[in-house]
Amino acid sequence: MADARDLTIIGGGPTGLFAAFYAGMRGLSARIIDSMPELGGQLAALYPEKYIYDVGGFPQILGRELAQHCIAQGLQFGADVRLEEQVARLIREPDGGFTLTTDQGHYPTKAIVIAAGKGAFAPRVLECPGYDRLLGKGIVHHVHDPATYEGQRVLIVGGGDSAVDWALNLKDRTRRLVLIHRREGFRAHAGSMRQMEAAVEAGQMELITYHEVREVHGDGHVTGVTIFDNRTHTETMLEVDAVLALIGFKPDLGPLANWGLELDRHSVKVDAHMETSIPGVFAAGDIATYEGKLELIATGFAEACVAVNYAAHHVDPRARVNPGHSTNLKVFKDREEAAAE
Ligand code: FAD
Repeated sequence: MADARDLTIIGGGPTGLFAAFYAGMRGLSARIIDSMPELGGQLAALYPEKYIYDVGGFPQILGRELAQHCIAQGLQFGADVRLEEQVARLIREPDGGFTLTTDQGHYPTKAIVIAAGKGAFAPRVLECPGYDRLLGKGIVHHVHDPATYEGQRVLIVGGGDSAVDWALNLKDRTRRLVLIHRREGFRAHAGSMRQMEAAVEAGQMELITYHEVREVHGDGHVTGVTIFDNRTHTETMLEVDAVLALIGFKPDLGPLANWGLELDRHSVKVDAHMETSIPGVFAAGDIATYEGKLELIATGFAEACVAVNYAAHHVDPRARVNPGHSTNLKVFKDREEAAAE
């Protein structure tokens, strides 16, 4: 059993990270649990290389950079972080607290903020021979380090932002870069599409539409892929060193749907305090719903702020809900003075 925390935040996306910051500012001990291998939620997993223009204070900022700022701000008070753990159960304890369980541990907590976005992300997979066997041996669902593909022959599969953005990012590093998509139409940003068309025109990469993967070949590591034209069923063999299957993530509310929370379709209903139908369990960000809800990073920040301030009051009813202004808080004044000495 892990040590008890005042607040446990399910989800380390922008909302969960801002909740961790606010928890620290309010003097609450906090823990973030996320099923992904890295923090940042959709920013890191789905569009690290896209510019975001509608977050206050940043005229434009890459998803990856905003995730880094959120992490730096969110973890400054020492929140405990558990990655690659999916919260499976919420147990209500007789003392009014809770225990959250994952496949790796039990986490006791006095209050909870669910900041689980659209649910835990599971990458969509290709169903073809060789795929399961070579997953992690040349086939990946996430690009961790673009330098891995220096001088390699790479096949990207997908028609969304992630596939197109990574094609643009990797085209100058790779020896050969082919992107295949099963349709003519792409779901990627129009500006990125124009850049990709220019790259194809310039011979920097190849684009093949109406094609899908039939089989991945390799003995211990990917050496090639058979693709087929889904109109004619003609097969083509491509020699490649890596397959980037960037066909999206399947968000799945999963076990969360069975915790007895009042739901509205795939979202958790909250009141004006961002509290769910279970007292002490709050929700914020994409997962939370109420009349007039907008699913945006900016609204997630505001909801996290409301949720954590009411959670602070739940944990200790003597604590005021209103946090006051950060410019005047002792926790930051002390830090300023220490830095000035
Ligand atoms: P998420 O970012 O989804 O993070 C939730 C986290 O919770 C995930 O990491 C997930 O793994 C984790 N999780 C879920 N369930 C569990 C569980 N049971 N156990 C453990 N962990 C769990 N918004 C804007 O405001 N401006 C934009 O320009 C913009 N552009 C976008 C472009 C794209 C391509 C996409 C896909 C979205 C865009 N958005 C944009 C939306 C924005 O990304 C979301 O509103 C935001 O990420 C929501 O943040 P969140 O923290 O609530 O959830």
